[in-house]
Amino acid sequence: MAKFGQMNFENNLLFAQGLDQADPLKGLRNDFLFPQQNGKPFIYLCGNSLGLQPKAAREVMDVQMNNWQNLAVEGWFEGDSPWMFYHKELKKLIAPIVGASAQEVCPMNTLTVNLHLLMVSFYRPVKSRFRIIMEAGAFPSDQYAIESQVRFHGYDPAEAIIEVAPRAGEYTLRTEDILSAIRENGEEIALVLFGGVNYFTGQWYDMEAITKAGHEAGAVVGFDLAHAAGNVPLQLHDWGIDFACWCSYKYQNSGPGGISGIFVHKKHFGDATLNRFAGWWGYREQQRFKMEKGFVPEAGADGWQVSCTQVMPMALYHASLQLFEKAGFIEPLRAKSKTLTAYLFYIVNEVNKHLGEVQYKIITPPGEADRGAQVSIIAKQNGRYIFEQLVAANVLGDWREPNVIRLSPVPMYNSFEDVFRTGELLLSIGKALRI
Ligand SMILES: *Cc1c(COP(=O)(O)O)cnc(C)c1O
Repeated sequence: MAKFGQMNFENNLLFAQGLDQADPLKGLRNDFLFPQQNGKPFIYLCGNSLGLQPKAAREVMDVQMNNWQNLAVEGWFEGDSPWMFYHKELKKLIAPIVGASAQEVCPMNTLTVNLHLLMVSFYRPVKSRFRIIMEAGAFPSDQYAIESQVRFHGYDPAEAIIEVAPRAGEYTLRTEDILSAIRENGEEIALVLFGGVNYFTGQWYDMEAITKAGHEAGAVVGFDLAHAAGNVPLQLHDWGIDFACWCSYKYQNSGPGGISGIFVHKKHFGDATLNRFAGWWGYREQQRFKMEKGFVPEAGADGWQVSCTQVMPMALYHASLQLFEKAGFIEPLRAKSKTLTAYLFYIVNEVNKHLGEVQYKIITPPGEADRGAQVSIIAKQNGRYIFEQLVAANVLGDWREPNVIRLSPVPMYNSFEDVFRTGELLLSIGKALRI
């Protein structure tokens, strides 16, 4: 037994099943389709990489296929839910997931594209203030996007980009180190651009403190929320974050290459000096089809749209957002997630105890305020082999080079029994390794 908050965990099947029975969200699992292997569903612990398919996904696609068939071009303005306004239904459902108003968010494009578009508006370097501060080991796409933006403005990435790295022998960042890096370079920083939750370690950064420090330094503050949106509770508006973007195919189950979302804080809506890479869909909605010369942006985040609504991927995102609505949005999910992930921590530690050594070293911070639903494990040896053994035994997590097994129990569709069974496997694989 081990204490987690009020909970005394036990490492046995009946205990795990008991937690499942008491779980108010247990029914949501039936709204998803699980991949199978050898005639059995996987224990799917990879929702941080690609969320599962909601059963409703095929139906919403059918609806839009029928609209296309029956209405064709008139679908933009006709039917139950005209495509012209379709994104508005999503905005209402996205807003509570990220802690913003519907006006401040908009589904559009894909993540890295949006990161570029938002940097066009919010990375405005001048000679005396051109640097960007970010986390070392950020997701590669973000590194490439940021480097190329810096070059685009005529600066040298080696000079312009400041990376905050973990201390020697540590895997995750200390908030104090992030804040002091911002303060030390304050006057030269044009932009603080961090992940919300790091893809590799699963560390959830103190976004509010980072934002405050960035603003005190006179910088703009943005976040890539790929691993945070739909995973941890966010208050983008109240924290005063300037902009953010995320993909929806990880914790938000919108399917491979699914639509991205952006957030722009209301305080920027009146700023006519912001640059944009504009397109017709960002034009004032009421006058868009007058097709006039001279770009006039729609109010709010919608003014950052470029191309016409991608109805098919948006319909898939919609199907998943409706499940968030059904769950009561992020708070009930997070309540389960905290316990579910704490249980995985507990189980892995129990396995190590049984093995008599730390075969499975967890690098994700254990504290609830420092993590979401992901547990990153570095095996003492044979990491890749262990990962493959898990897959062979129907547990699908993922492997990240050079040495990490990521396991994400997602509150929408994972159970405490999933976590217990994964522990059983980690134990048997670990035992077999020692013979
Ligand atoms: C998953 C992820 C991406 C992926 O970007 P796409 O443009 O959707 O391919 C980018 N950044 C981060 C931090 C991610 O975790």
